[in-house]
Amino acid sequence: MTCTLKIYRRNMTNLNQIKEEICDIGCRLYNRGFGAANDGNISCRIDEDRIVCTPTGICKGFMRPDDLCIVDMEANQLAGHRKMTSEIRQHITILKHRNDVRSVVHCHPPHATAFGMVREAIPQYLMPEAEIKLGEVPIVKYTIPGGQEFADVILPFLDKSDIVIQANHGTVSYGATVEQAYFLVETLDAYCKIVLLAHGLGQVRHFTKEEADALLEWKRANGYKDPRCDSADVAFRESWQESGVGRRVFSPPPFQSDNPSGK
Ligand SMILES: [Zn+2]
Repeated sequence: MTCTLKIYRRNMTNLNQIKEEICDIGCRLYNRGFGAANDGNISCRIDEDRIVCTPTGICKGFMRPDDLCIVDMEANQLAGHRKMTSEIRQHITILKHRNDVRSVVHCHPPHATAFGMVREAIPQYLMPEAEIKLGEVPIVKYTIPGGQEFADVILPFLDKSDIVIQANHGTVSYGATVEQAYFLVETLDAYCKIVLLAHGLGQVRHFTKEEADALLEWKRANGYKDPRCDSADVAFRESWQESGVGRRVFSPPPFQSDNPSGK
């Protein structure tokens, strides 16, 4: 009995901590301008069958732990006085597909979303941090938010990237913790902002082939997964046609070709 009580208390503490963390990240997300008004949603898996998630129609900057919902892995709401986010199915798709992921963050970071709106492939080989923390970031085709198609559209990318840009919408990122999932958005949006500023100043200069290879080699040696470590070509090029993505604003690095055959 004592043992059960201890476990119960520990789980409750854990649940409360996760709820607090979601509110904290929601605040950071809102203050960064990644979600205006009620935009965005956050979730975190708490055990095999349950997820804590943000409710629909709430400002992420002013949430309290009691506002959050608990849902099961089939998108049934189990607890919470507010209605769960309508985009929970996409979170569940990610959580079911990636056993290493516990948290999903969706928001509308302006600089990264601008690339998704123009459908301009995120330039690569310009900053070491972006190459190491993000790798190549795919832009997935636009679908109406909330339905199963919206949830499934990111499936082909889940094993290759921890963050995707949704065309004409925003980003979805996922990681072992809420903060880890959120940091990917911060990194991506800061990178997109710097790239746009640099582009306004003049022509951006890419790494040389040797410098780019050295970064990929470092990732390989340090256990980072990156599809570019297996193929020197653009990992997501095959999806460009379906999502309307191209390189119309930024030129490819001099050692990459824009010929769809990759030659
Ligand atoms: Zn959204």
